[in-house]
Amino acid sequence: MIQENYFEKNPDLLEHFQSIIDWEEIIHIYENNFADAKIYQETSDSRFELAPTTIDEAKQFYEEILKTTGDISGNYVSQVSQIIDSKGLKFENGIVTHPTEMVEMIEKYQEAGLHAIPFKRKFGGLGLPNTVKAIVSEVMYRSDTSTTIAAASIGLAAILENVASEDECMELIPRFVQEKFTGTMGLSEPDYGSDLPEVKTKATPDPNNTGKWLLNGTKRYQTVACGINGKPGMTLVLARTGNPESGARGLSFFIAESKDYEVIGLEKKLGLKASATCEVAYENTPAILVGKEGYGLVKYVMGMLNGARLSVASQGTGLSYAAFREASEYAKSRIQFGKPIIEIPAVAKMLDWMERETTAMRCLMIEAAYSVDKYYWSGFRNLERGSKEAEDAKFWEKVANTLTPISKYYNSETAIRVVNTGLQVLGGAGFTEDYDLARLYRDVRITNIYDGTTQIQINAAIGGIVSGMGESGIFKQYLNLLRKQGTSSDDKQIEKIMDNLFQTLDEIVKTYKAIEDRDSKDGYAFEVVESSARVILSLLMDRALARSKNEKRIPMNRKFHLDSIICLEGNLKKLQNI
Ligand SMILES: Cc1cc2nc3c(=O)[nH]c(=O)nc-3n(C[C@H](O)[C@H](O)[C@H](O)COP(=O)(O)OP(=O)(O)OC[C@H]3O[C@@H](n4cnc5c(N)ncnc54)[C@H](O)[C@@H]3O)c2cc1C
Repeated sequence: MIQENYFEKNPDLLEHFQSIIDWEEIIHIYENNFADAKIYQETSDSRFELAPTTIDEAKQFYEEILKTTGDISGNYVSQVSQIIDSKGLKFENGIVTHPTEMVEMIEKYQEAGLHAIPFKRKFGGLGLPNTVKAIVSEVMYRSDTSTTIAAASIGLAAILENVASEDECMELIPRFVQEKFTGTMGLSEPDYGSDLPEVKTKATPDPNNTGKWLLNGTKRYQTVACGINGKPGMTLVLARTGNPESGARGLSFFIAESKDYEVIGLEKKLGLKASATCEVAYENTPAILVGKEGYGLVKYVMGMLNGARLSVASQGTGLSYAAFREASEYAKSRIQFGKPIIEIPAVAKMLDWMERETTAMRCLMIEAAYSVDKYYWSGFRNLERGSKEAEDAKFWEKVANTLTPISKYYNSETAIRVVNTGLQVLGGAGFTEDYDLARLYRDVRITNIYDGTTQIQINAAIGGIVSGMGESGIFKQYLNLLRKQGTSSDDKQIEKIMDNLFQTLDEIVKTYKAIEDRDSKDGYAFEVVESSARVILSLLMDRALARSKNEKRIPMNRKFHLDSIICLEGNLKKLQNI
């Protein structure tokens, strides 16, 4: 793979960092009047030593983290990703062994403290907002998917800050960070994947009054539940505390450690050859109940999945950018008909489309993370009910609940097409293991399946779109806000395009609402969500131009908007002809 700093040498990411992202807004909310820095001044508690005291200091800190990530990912991990993939995993007598190159790379990330990014400083974390995390993830995923999944997996435990008591967090999170645990979502079972309300793993109070619970059952597809070559793993397990018919409300949330459960199988897969997808048996496995009984699926797992979905949105962007850059390099040096193939219009067109879509995916990934940053921290800031800040947080929570599934669905589906196109640019070479495209192609295929398939993301997004498109609806307000932030008011042509997109989306939602047959309605929800995604993406591309004032974006945006118009008009026709 290309060897360079994957943050510093990515001009679009740099532009986002320097002029597109509204850092002041995020830092204001996230640092809560620089409360951690004040604690450090008063107590000299080393956990808060790195807490910034000003907006500029916070930005500088974020930039340092991003440069470090870019260096490790681009100069080291990228150089062994093919070796890691070809060596894969070994599984003998219940023990999973990862390639040594992969273990070394995970250690590099850990030594730089990157595994502690999502946790609050008081729990031993770096305390970074989701917007920074989204960029870190993109940069890491570009270099290697299996390594990134394992290195970042402990981030799943950030849900504990929202769910567990302060004492439990203080006991668990610093230990997970210091002892370099991996983290796993313990949801899927052999008979239940999308249908999580039905999972059967059973939890009962330990009869020996240890205060713990005992788990019994089997979980499937448990990513890195085995830990890494002797380092421990912990799983956040969804298990039934209610009766067998209790549905979603009978499910609770537990923490189990790898020393207490057994890995009984390892999946052989199309891609992610060095990411351990384990089958796990729980037999009277001691586990800690976190949060309240019965809230496991309805509240906590949904919170955890939202974080995981943002991460997949970054994964899609990282893999697409990898494919675009690797394919561009190849096209510059491959000569056919006496010239580099990059000069052949059909090839240039493929690369142009890949770049345009990847740029748009990046806007969406950052915006989804930003929307979470805008509300998530309100819960920790004791905002006065009814205050402007509390109302603002409520608005962004609703936006985030719709934008998160949209970003997961759109970026994964588009990444699969972008990487596929990248392989096409390489011709026969793309199909061989001599280049990276074959691995990227295998690895990207899972993104629209795990952490909830595309169809499940559509189910999650459609309600917020349809109910929010009334004149005073939240989704409509959000679209209007984005439009105000763009260039539309100064540019008559763009204004016409945006008018067209807004009117067609209104028509699409109206036509969809009028469908009476339930099955048709479920079947065509995709067209409504896809259309909404394209309108958001066009608005975000327009805003990126307004904020960066980079004229290179103008031709790219025009083509993107045209694709959006074609997509919406096609979808409207389909809906009108059901
Ligand atoms: C490599 C890998 C890693 C994974 N890691 C983890 C992990 O760490 N932890 C974990 O718990 N799970 C993990 N999973 C499981 C993953 O989340 C599930 O595979 C996924 O949620 C889909 O479930 P399923 O495979 O049972 O498919 P099914 O639920 O059987 O779905 C099959 C098809 O039916 C569609 N479908 C099902 N229900 C609906 C519906 N209501 N509306 C519309 N369409 C529907 C689906 O979209 C899909 O197309 C992993 C899977 C893989 C392959």
